[in-house]
Amino acid sequence: MKITLRPYHPTGVVAIIGGAKKTGFNNRGVDYVIEQIMTDPDLDVEIVHEYDDICKKCDRRVEDENGSVWGKHHTCPSAQDEKMIEKVNADNERFFSATGLQFGSVIKMRDLVELLKEKIPPAERGGSNTPYAKGLAKLSGMYAT
Ligand code: SF4
Repeated sequence: MKITLRPYHPTGVVAIIGGAKKTGFNNRGVDYVIEQIMTDPDLDVEIVHEYDDICKKCDRRVEDENGSVWGKHHTCPSAQDEKMIEKVNADNERFFSATGLQFGSVIKMRDLVELLKEKIPPAERGGSNTPYAKGLAKLSGMYAT
């Protein structure tokens, strides 16, 4: 089984697994990818530029014949917000620079967890008592059993 994630999404998904609140509008997609992560120990993750498996179930994504910066046939409010686009692109670059991954990379979720622990450690994201740290610990423990 494989899920698709945009580069800035894995850290957020890990934080939600560790107890962070979901945003609401994309809950169905987040729930879907978390279910795949928690039930398939061999899950592959493909890092994509366009709308991913979270976006595809997002309440804010709508069909648009002109498409948008993040998909040929759809758009959403954040695809029309220049500041949000800049922020996402910057977040994506930080993820790539830290992990060495790129668009099109396919990696086992268990390997991605190890990569995040090493390259984007909790110390860089608020410390060891954050949802991100708890999510990494929970996933690490799951893959160790
Ligand atoms: S608002 Fe757009 S970018 Fe954000 S999750 Fe929804 S579809 Fe994806």
